[in-house]
Amino acid sequence: MCMRDGAVADVLPVANVATDRRASYELDPAQLVATRSAARRDGLEIAGFYHSHPRTSAEPSSYDLANAWYPECVYVVIGLDPRPVVRAFRIADGRARELELEFETA
Ligand SMILES: [Zn+2]
Repeated sequence: MCMRDGAVADVLPVANVATDRRASYELDPAQLVATRSAARRDGLEIAGFYHSHPRTSAEPSSYDLANAWYPECVYVVIGLDPRPVVRAFRIADGRARELELEFETA
């Protein structure tokens, strides 16, 4: 998710290269570097990352907590089981602090 002027302005895809993509995610490092460079070139700031939990809730997993490398970013988790829920967190030092989400309609 990229921001401009304090609002999400774009969503740029980065491939999940985890060995078991149904159980965890790992952003393609080369693609992430290229995406960050492209965002900066376009005047955007990487504000966060999102991923889904198709088989569990929107609670950050122990893997999510241990692999959140950008404490300045927002981590959005979309849980689909038992029902679709979207939650956002800042994660630092292995701990998650939930953020309030605000949605705007066009
Ligand atoms: Zn997760």
